[in-house]
Amino acid sequence: MAAYPPHLTPEQLEQLHTLAQDWASSHGLVVGAPNSAPNRLTQAPYALLPTPFPRGCFEEARALQKLFNQLVDRVSRDDAFIRNVLDQVAQVDEFTGRLYDVYKQIHAEGQTQQSITLGLHRADYLLHLPAGEERASIRQVEINTISASFGALASRTGHLHRYMHTRHCYVLIPGRLYGSPNCPALPENEAHAGYARGLAAAHKLMAIPNSYVLIVVQEGERNRFDQRWIEYALWEQHRVPMIRRTMDELNERATLDADTKALRIDGLDISVVYYRAGYGPEDYHSAKAGKDGGSHILPSRAVKCPSIAYQLVGAKKMQQVLAEPGALERFFPESPEACRRMRASFAGMYPLDGSAEGEKAAAAALATPDDYVMKPQREGGGNNVYGRDIPPLLASLSTAERSAYILMDLIRPPLMHNWLVRDGAYVKAGVVSELGIYGIWLSQNGSAVVNDEVGHLLRTKSEEVQEGGVATGFAVIDSPLLV
Ligand code: ADP
Ligand code: MG
Ligand code: MG
Repeated sequence: MAAYPPHLTPEQLEQLHTLAQDWASSHGLVVGAPNSAPNRLTQAPYALLPTPFPRGCFEEARALQKLFNQLVDRVSRDDAFIRNVLDQVAQVDEFTGRLYDVYKQIHAEGQTQQSITLGLHRADYLLHLPAGEERASIRQVEINTISASFGALASRTGHLHRYMHTRHCYVLIPGRLYGSPNCPALPENEAHAGYARGLAAAHKLMAIPNSYVLIVVQEGERNRFDQRWIEYALWEQHRVPMIRRTMDELNERATLDADTKALRIDGLDISVVYYRAGYGPEDYHSAKAGKDGGSHILPSRAVKCPSIAYQLVGAKKMQQVLAEPGALERFFPESPEACRRMRASFAGMYPLDGSAEGEKAAAAALATPDDYVMKPQREGGGNNVYGRDIPPLLASLSTAERSAYILMDLIRPPLMHNWLVRDGAYVKAGVVSELGIYGIWLSQNGSAVVNDEVGHLLRTKSEEVQEGGVATGFAVIDSPLLV
């Protein structure tokens, strides 16, 4: 491939940056400004140009999504498996323990699975390129089953890059990758519309007259525009209204009808509860949330996206156990080929418990810590421990406490270069990218009604940073230029 990104003079770069900033503001590629008045906003961090990504790897990740949607659903229905995996972790990790208690309580009441289940997932991948090899392959970082975000801003960024490529780069730097005004190397992406389609389908199946989809959000959410785009797509394309409430508002004001199990808030009937909060302990700390953190609404007839079981299936511990020999086969006995294909995307993962394997993994991590990431049962970025920070952490934990973590092989993606734009300034950096694939799943009485792959996200970060979140300030939103 030709050198990327192309050489630009300082004047060209300044010109492209100005064009991109104005485009971003005009098209809603925005987030709430930090620490400021509620209505202030700023551009989301983004890559000035798309980052090259191998087409074959992109297609493979897309093709796997329906299998992973199905896997999440099948695992969520296997109570014995869930208990076996989480019993120990729940004892040492307070947050997982709390979710697990709610799960067990609901299960005891016979309502683990409602007749209708909705999953809005995102599976994330890094490219794996061992030294000396030429062809990269994908390695799954994790599957998010709750609050997977950035579908809308990823779609915005795809449009920004199409504009930059076809209109400006095409003019500024003719030839090479910019040769086509249609730019087939930039794949279509309307991930937020896909999520809206999933929500609308669940809402319609529920068929509650004059009801609303409720999105549960964090107080002062900076990423609310990403959420708003889903609301707009839901209304414009499906005529389904969405309302926003915080976890506290839900706890204070939601009511559950004892007979019909109808969920209402502020006089409105709710068909689907879509959580963009509730994935971490922070959301349960408020005094109003109380100890149950909203669990009183779980027995309601409203579809919860995700269900408590789906949320638990997204745990890092679950991912590690599903990578063990024979685990996928338990859920796909009819298709060794599906198991082979999913497993080919897994990185090495190891328990860190008191088992012989756990001891072996801990010893390996102490010997060559730079080859590993240590992960707790958390979501939202900024929680992992890398390289030389691993040995002191291991040393500080009892054997029981270690089992709250998993160990994972460090994936080493190939280095690319791009300009990253954040807070109105751009820097050229050596970068690595993480691909996310959005999936929607809807089932009724155990049979799939919808199972689709609906779009993608590329997050790109400077190679020096180990963690990769956009919201946590590590990465920018990007889109793939398929090569
Ligand atoms: P979270 O649920 O908090 O997003 P992740 O498992 O996605 O947790 O880890 C956060 C970030 O850490 C990822 O976006 C990625 O940049 C980095 N990371 C996670 N696992 C690995 C790995 N095995 N190799 C290299 N980087 C990783
Ligand atoms: Mg996650
Ligand atoms: Mg992640």
